[in-house]
Amino acid sequence: MAERMLQFVRLSQAQPEKRDVAARRSDFGEIYREFAADAAAEQSSRCSQCGVPFCSVHCPLNNNIPDWLKLTAEGRLEEAYEVSAATNTFPEICGRICPQDRLCEGNCVIEKGFESVTIGAVEKYITDTAWEKGWVKPPTPRQELPWSVGIIGAGPGGLAAAEKLRLRGYQVHVYDRYDRVGGLMIYGIPNFKLEKEVVLRRWQQYEAGGIHFHLNCAVGQDVTLAELRERHDAVFIATGVYKARDIEGIGSGLGGIVAALDYLTASNRDNLGDAVPDFASGALNAQGKRVVVVGGGDTAMDCVRTAVRQGAAAVTCLYRRDKANMPGSMREVKNAEEEGVEFAWLAAPEAFVGDAGSAGGGEGQVSGVRAVRMHLGLPDATGRQQVAPIPGSAFTIPCDLAIKALGFDPEDLPRAFDEPALPVTRWGTLRVHHRTMMTDLPGVFAGGDIVRGASLVVWAIRDGRDAADQIDAYVKAKAGNKLAVAAE
Ligand code: FAD
Repeated sequence: MAERMLQFVRLSQAQPEKRDVAARRSDFGEIYREFAADAAAEQSSRCSQCGVPFCSVHCPLNNNIPDWLKLTAEGRLEEAYEVSAATNTFPEICGRICPQDRLCEGNCVIEKGFESVTIGAVEKYITDTAWEKGWVKPPTPRQELPWSVGIIGAGPGGLAAAEKLRLRGYQVHVYDRYDRVGGLMIYGIPNFKLEKEVVLRRWQQYEAGGIHFHLNCAVGQDVTLAELRERHDAVFIATGVYKARDIEGIGSGLGGIVAALDYLTASNRDNLGDAVPDFASGALNAQGKRVVVVGGGDTAMDCVRTAVRQGAAAVTCLYRRDKANMPGSMREVKNAEEEGVEFAWLAAPEAFVGDAGSAGGGEGQVSGVRAVRMHLGLPDATGRQQVAPIPGSAFTIPCDLAIKALGFDPEDLPRAFDEPALPVTRWGTLRVHHRTMMTDLPGVFAGGDIVRGASLVVWAIRDGRDAADQIDAYVKAKAGNKLAVAAE
């Protein structure tokens, strides 16, 4: 092993090449090229196979990263894929969009003195190869079970649970209010991070494996939670968080101020070939416009980079803290800077200005965002530096389209599902028993963003997989109890 691994002392870290910036700006294709086989093997061989693999410890799925890196270094790709897929439902997706700089790669031990091992790009390479070679199979069970599970939400949380339960033989029914499978992976995250074909081919595999999808079906409107509980032996809620945080105040009713997810969904739908009237009319299209995006998270980065690709005249990101305090991935900030996005750090919006009373009789169109400069103060209890406005520092950034990307809160599910007994926390997320993942309603489980609040795909996968184990145990225990009662 020593010869093949531990090569970090000899080899520098490399990531797959990025496409040329001018080309990136003009289309929605993914920006990273694929590793060649020898480059993937070479980069994998940099792993030190350390005794306590912090990459694995800090991965929400505890992926056996050193094992599949070693197998890749040895050219044993099919085995590498088996090991990687054993703990992760979508390794090719995590390889593309996980913030590795904060998780596995950010905790690699060789980073103390050398650059970390390249993990995400190798993970993507292994699974893309597995798809190419036909090693990825539909989740066809060895034997069918008589029990069925209803899953609400076809995002990564719901799908991870669906796949695991189907492999065990359950009759799995997934309900989603959208017309496509994938949740935020299909309509939130843009193509340049995750091409939609990658998500759509999973959907096809799941149908081939016998998972039933009920699309355009909003639970609470088209079917009730109570009906699903009647229909199925257990229900898993993985509905995500979709209530956009808003900016109230002067000018917030002007035209041309839109919510981030409406904007990104329109762009993703357009890229999928759907007719999108608000995109065609220009209401949700940045072409030729001066755009200001308010916010500093991953959603804001996706908006600014989408606007660049739509041909915006200028794109500015307005964020009230500085770069070091941004919640989004630094890798994405760097990509945005390369693509020509301007950042107004330490600046918070104060008001939207516009040509009030213009034709149309409404409040008029936005023509600028008035912002005030902020300064960073002492850290609060969480360690994050507080911000305060600098008096007399107001300035205005001209804009024709303002996009609000301030994060998401949960919808009121007890009301939407007409189920007041569904327990929620003070943040509106669903409350589950931390070990069983069950709510106070017997047989109703929950996971993903609707429990954690806005989080990451990898955490939703983790929850879906854990919930599948808990649902399996619950349904079998219930069936066992019934048999025992019948036998008495
Ligand atoms: P979701 O993916 O939100 O899926 C929930 C599903 O439930 C949806 O399909 C929805 O239609 C459905 N649903 C909701 N209510 C109902 C109902 N009443 N009836 C039927 N169906 C319903 N994470 C990363 O790891 N990396 C990234 O780069 C990244 N980028 C992001 C960019 C954006 C713009 C956004 C918004 C999020 C991003 N995230 C990213 C976060 C990630 O997408 C989420 O954490 C993850 O998708 C949550 O998974 P989930 O299964 O809990 O919910």
